[in-house]
Amino acid sequence: MKYLKLSGLEPLVITPESNFINVGERTNVAGSKKFLRLIKEEKYAEALDIARHQVEGGAQVLDVNMDDGLLDGKYAMVKFLNLIASEPDIARIPIMVDSSKWEILEAGLQVVQGKPVVNSISLKEGEANFIDQAKKIKRYGAAVIVMAFDEVGQADNYERRIEIAKRSYDILVNEIDFPPEDIIFDLNIFPVATGMDEHRRNAIDFIEATRWVRTNLPYVSVSGGVSNVSFSFRGNDAVREAMHSVFLYHAIKAGMNMGIVNPTMLEVYDEIPKDLLELIEDVMLDRRDDATERLLDFSERVKSVRKEKTEDLAWREQPLQDRITHALVKGIDRFIEEDIEEARQEAKRPLDVIEINLMTGMGVVGDLFGSGKMFLPQVVKSARVMKRAVAYLQPYIEAEKDTGRPAAGKVLMATVKGDVHDIGKNIVSVVLGCNNYEIIDLGVMVPAEKIIQTAIDEKVDIIGLSGLITPSLDEMVHVASELERKNLDFPLLIGGATTSKAHTAVKIDPSYSNAVVHVNDASRAVNVVSSLLNKEKSNVYTLDLKTEYEDFREKFLNRGEHKEYVALEFARKNKYKIDFKSEDIVKPAKPGITIIEDQPLEALLDYIDWSPFFRSWDLHGRYPDILKDEVVGVQATELFHDAQKILKKLIEDKSLTAKAIFGLFPANAVEDDIFLQNEQGEDIGKFITLRQQAKKSEGKEYLALADFIAPKETGIQDYIGCFCVTAGFGADEVAAKYNEENDDYNSIMVKALADRFAEAYAEFLHYKIRKEYWGYASDENLNNEQMIKEEYKGTRPAPGYPACPDHLEKNMIWDVLKVEENIGVKLTESLAMWPAASVSGYYFAHPMSKYFGLGKIKEDQLRDYTERKGIDYDLAKKWLSPNLA
Ligand code: SAH
Repeated sequence: MKYLKLSGLEPLVITPESNFINVGERTNVAGSKKFLRLIKEEKYAEALDIARHQVEGGAQVLDVNMDDGLLDGKYAMVKFLNLIASEPDIARIPIMVDSSKWEILEAGLQVVQGKPVVNSISLKEGEANFIDQAKKIKRYGAAVIVMAFDEVGQADNYERRIEIAKRSYDILVNEIDFPPEDIIFDLNIFPVATGMDEHRRNAIDFIEATRWVRTNLPYVSVSGGVSNVSFSFRGNDAVREAMHSVFLYHAIKAGMNMGIVNPTMLEVYDEIPKDLLELIEDVMLDRRDDATERLLDFSERVKSVRKEKTEDLAWREQPLQDRITHALVKGIDRFIEEDIEEARQEAKRPLDVIEINLMTGMGVVGDLFGSGKMFLPQVVKSARVMKRAVAYLQPYIEAEKDTGRPAAGKVLMATVKGDVHDIGKNIVSVVLGCNNYEIIDLGVMVPAEKIIQTAIDEKVDIIGLSGLITPSLDEMVHVASELERKNLDFPLLIGGATTSKAHTAVKIDPSYSNAVVHVNDASRAVNVVSSLLNKEKSNVYTLDLKTEYEDFREKFLNRGEHKEYVALEFARKNKYKIDFKSEDIVKPAKPGITIIEDQPLEALLDYIDWSPFFRSWDLHGRYPDILKDEVVGVQATELFHDAQKILKKLIEDKSLTAKAIFGLFPANAVEDDIFLQNEQGEDIGKFITLRQQAKKSEGKEYLALADFIAPKETGIQDYIGCFCVTAGFGADEVAAKYNEENDDYNSIMVKALADRFAEAYAEFLHYKIRKEYWGYASDENLNNEQMIKEEYKGTRPAPGYPACPDHLEKNMIWDVLKVEENIGVKLTESLAMWPAASVSGYYFAHPMSKYFGLGKIKEDQLRDYTERKGIDYDLAKKWLSPNLA
């Protein structure tokens, strides 16, 4: 099919099923004073933050414009695009190279990564020029925005819009063979309600022209800048927000599939008060002569209504169904039993209250979430209201011996054997539950046999597997192979932090003939599950998936082949060289093993890094800025307040116990191993470290953690530390209690907070190590932010993380410190730590030690490692498989 396909580092394919594509435009000097200032002052790092913000806020394409009289636009465009290219979190999405000057557009096209959009060209300066530019754009392989503009001027009515669009299309497609799916028309959005008669049809003409273009010019897209339409209501955001929604509602229906919209300037269409909606539609659709006056009259009143919105209980006056829907959408459970009781009395059977009243409300929640107008924490809160309502109805339903509502499907969810993490899995379960799927949650550390047997016994429709640590990836492959061996055909969903589309495609998919889908995003889970269960479409969907993963696998495998590696011996010769001097090395003030039995949580509060907390709820952005974020700010603030409440309660009730153990030992490196001694000078073990082998440019070093410890042959006595901290004792119990109360929201919250406390404890203990216990940085003076940025002297790499991905090394830490005996933190067969909210790692004190990523290693190092470790080659290979080139 001919779809508009764009790409940054990731593809963006726009199909008829795609939602509206939102273009971020804060990186436009014409539209943002702040961005203009940053570019003028050459503050590119801050300018990049604006771009990042846009991506995090949900922009799917990034418009970059440097047209300003006081700027060297070409220089700024090239520089900014080059900088974006090295920021994977920004470069992920396609770029819209925006300028009215051809030389800037072309300069941008020469450096931009992926398949961009050019914004824009038109017939303004005649056909010859238009053709010339379009040919070049075609050669650069970009898509293009064509403005409805010709030699006479800008199209400002229906006829002119379609005349120019048709003429442009015919030239592009018929004369120069421009791919029609790469054409996007900007049909000019102009203001309405300006008081001038000739502007009355501005919106409706755009909408109708859009419909014509999408019907008559095959494969093209239609775009526009939405805020223009409400220009005459500047200063009255309430009305503007409602106008944008109304305009988009009609324009999208007519076929507008892309545009620039500020998401904070959008009211939810269904929540626009009916009287205001009518007035706005009168204006947009030009339905009355006095439409503008009437809207102006009304607008003052809306302003005042909005101000009271927060405390407003007016919704309690609405009809029953509206109240139930409102409670679900807003996650308010204060009145739900009252309302459900009323519904029950009106209903024929209690079950109808679920099937009609509650499902109607949840349908609205699902639609809002699916279209990006609601965020994850809100949905989980809605689920809480839903569950409480259902719990209230349960006795009545049982009394009637009703068989229960038919679910849309049954999904089995499990965290695989060896893994203890379930926040992501729980969130996906809640979201699926909201959409009427019945969830069977087997919890954590579930062996393959149990997953498969339960799936058969319970006749589930789909199995969802989750895992956080790398060994879980193998376990997932195992589950898939077992399903295959037993000739079973449950579709598999794969999710969790270390899972990826690549791993799913390369490792899991080939071992199973049925559907395997990587779903790492709760909002996508619903679509995937419903496609898999759709009787008519599931076969085609499964086939498409198989083909997609096969293609992906081929591309993925082919691209790896070009990487070069050096021999282990060469890497060792070119190790990271530190000139060790005794005066740089500090003997630990408190050598040996120290246990901290009960660490008060209050002391950890200041060490919490909040950004990952928001990420676990699918809200992306950096704390504290995220609280004021344009898109997710309101939601983030609410979540943060809720978190503070639970945090306070956890501390008051002393429901979590935090413990730690650490040891500081004399140590020296021998080749890539670090040998540890006790205070008596006896050997107590060795840490085996792995060395980088991916080929670097001449003269560059190949790192291993052992490089940060003085080699034995220097004769200098060096030291190393290792530790384990936990804040997780008690977390499962508190979370379970919330679950019993049908409160998934707080249950997930407790687990997320326990994780935060564990990380904060790791940070806090490390600080105390530097200042006191080891004391090598006793004069340090850093704030929390600086610590999160790892500005401290020395490092604390954690096994399973980039510098030391080998989870097996945790065994050595457990051995040396007797972690389980001393503080009760266990290792599972996959070497996940239990309780889940635990952290372990090493301490390196040398000022030149740093964090790095190992990358892939080669066969020669695997063999060498096997010998040093004294284990079977096959076992070593299994554990290191994610790191083998
Ligand atoms: N502040 C974050 C820390 C997440 S990273 C939070 O609160 O979630 C978790 C830990 O991994 C770091 O604290 C550090 O101990 C370790 N780490 C970071 N980079 C590493 C690397 N390149 N190799 C090994 N461990 C690393």
